[in-house]
Amino acid sequence: MAVFDDSSQVQDGAVLDADLCIVGAGAAGITLAANLAATKLRVLLLEGGGERMSGESQGLYQAEQTGLDYFDLTACRLRYFGGTTNHWGGYCRENDPIDYERRPDVGLPGWPLTHADVAPYVDRAAVQLGLDPEGFSPKPHFARHSQAGDRLLEDLSDQFETKVFQLSKRLRFQELYADQLRDSSNTHVLLNANVVHLALNQAGTSVAHLQVRGAGGRRRFRGRAKRFVLAAHAIENARLLLLSDDVQRSGIGNGHDQVGRYFMEHPHVVNGLFFPSPRFPAIYGMDRLQRVGLNANLGLSRSSMTRQRILQYYCRFVPVYDFDRSADAVKRVADGFWEPMDLRMLKALSRVTQRPLEALRFGAYRAGVLQPRPVAYSLDHRIEQAPSPESRITLSDAKDALGLRRARLHWQLNDIDYRTFDVGQQTVMAELSRLGMGQFKAARLGREAVDAGVFGHYHHIGTTRMGTSPTGSVVDTNCRVHGVDNLFMAGSSVFASSGYSGPTMMLIAFAIRLAEHLVKLSQTRA
Ligand SMILES: Cc1cc2nc3c(=O)[nH]c(=O)nc-3n(C[C@H](O)[C@H](O)[C@H](O)COP(=O)(O)OP(=O)(O)OC[C@H]3O[C@@H](n4cnc5c(N)ncnc54)[C@H](O)[C@@H]3O)c2cc1C
Repeated sequence: MAVFDDSSQVQDGAVLDADLCIVGAGAAGITLAANLAATKLRVLLLEGGGERMSGESQGLYQAEQTGLDYFDLTACRLRYFGGTTNHWGGYCRENDPIDYERRPDVGLPGWPLTHADVAPYVDRAAVQLGLDPEGFSPKPHFARHSQAGDRLLEDLSDQFETKVFQLSKRLRFQELYADQLRDSSNTHVLLNANVVHLALNQAGTSVAHLQVRGAGGRRRFRGRAKRFVLAAHAIENARLLLLSDDVQRSGIGNGHDQVGRYFMEHPHVVNGLFFPSPRFPAIYGMDRLQRVGLNANLGLSRSSMTRQRILQYYCRFVPVYDFDRSADAVKRVADGFWEPMDLRMLKALSRVTQRPLEALRFGAYRAGVLQPRPVAYSLDHRIEQAPSPESRITLSDAKDALGLRRARLHWQLNDIDYRTFDVGQQTVMAELSRLGMGQFKAARLGREAVDAGVFGHYHHIGTTRMGTSPTGSVVDTNCRVHGVDNLFMAGSSVFASSGYSGPTMMLIAFAIRLAEHLVKLSQTRA
């Protein structure tokens, strides 16, 4: 592991100069810095955390949370070098063309960019993550991995479209990029450097410098550059703009009350069981392609979505095996072997000894020797969330250890989100039943069922969205904050809609695009 400079080495009151200052060394910030490492730009990468997780740094992420139940924001985001990539899952998919389109009937504003505009950068992001840019199409995988007689479900019904995710193995950005950044002569990574304020010039049109504090607030210094990028993850990106309210009184870029709004997730609800007939292609089972780094899901086609006026929806089929209870018992015995007096452990031991064949089958399945047919699938319904102005980040009155107002998240769903769950579930159930694929045991996925069971995916999207006008967005097509000539945003905060793909490959694509733009800017104005 490389050793980077630490803010404790910086003198109180010092000014650190660079051409570009990036705030946050996670997926977005590291990608930006890595893509600029071979250029002439002097880059200062300010990371709030150290090389390892610490309670002090994580504590700065504590936030007030209202609305629907949500993951604890202190723990789900990671606040040290590498950011949340230190524990992300690596599920990746590119956006579909429809995800960039304006669809007023379902509340989607559209992006000021098209699929074709973004595609070259998505390809580069896929390569950066060790994925095949052509690998999101289901046909080749289906031809290679399905069983004789299986048909892709879109070949049987125009309602369906198979959505393939690829699983990246290039997960931990800390390990992947530390050496490259350390060895780059024009990149200065500074750890335990918490950006607390963006100081604008008097006219409010440019960022003059950043105010930075060391761990525990022990050092105070400045980062000065020609240009600045906030890459502190969606919630902190908005929070930093809102906190910097001395010149623009409602916060930077917030003259039209847009900063922090349109917080989106990828909501999902596990609801009901599906008992497949032999006709149902096992390739749709969640674990079936996992060993080859893939995951196939049943989504709805463009025509189905537009005809039924709903957002993106897909169903993940989570297999239920006849050995599942024995599998749990085996795992408990393996994990808890050193606590023989634990009652649950004794019960588990007794299950394993009474049903040795089940335990053996689970072992063979785990080792990849046996691929049994599931007795059922648990249905995991997943949707795109529409941007709602009320689902948002604001500032809480509570303060963190650096004296800054904490973030407040209010997460809520819209009528169209609930409708998409309901119509999506009904469409999948009706079509698979009509095709003789199996039988369902599931209650209707109405509003109450959604509210009772909805989860997010740790995907934080929106809050500084992209658009052409400051009245409805925060950044322009180049991710520059409207009205501030040298401030840019990186990360999924700029997404105008959430689609249904994991945000990380897409935000990496946008970071690569931004790096290219920043190099061009430095050349044209030099
Ligand atoms: C459990 C889990 C599983 C996930 N799985 C997937 C998945 O399978 N697929 C997918 O697409 N996405 C997944 N994600 C989401 C993914 O982790 C994020 O989309 C991605 O990490 C966001 O990148 P980022 O650079 O915007 O933020 P981060 O990676 O969080 O980086 C932000 C950085 O900014 C730093 N920072 C914050 N505030 C300041 C400040 N004031 N000053 C200086 N530095 C600061 C932080 O310390 C951090 O290092 C998952 C997330 C979690 C939690």
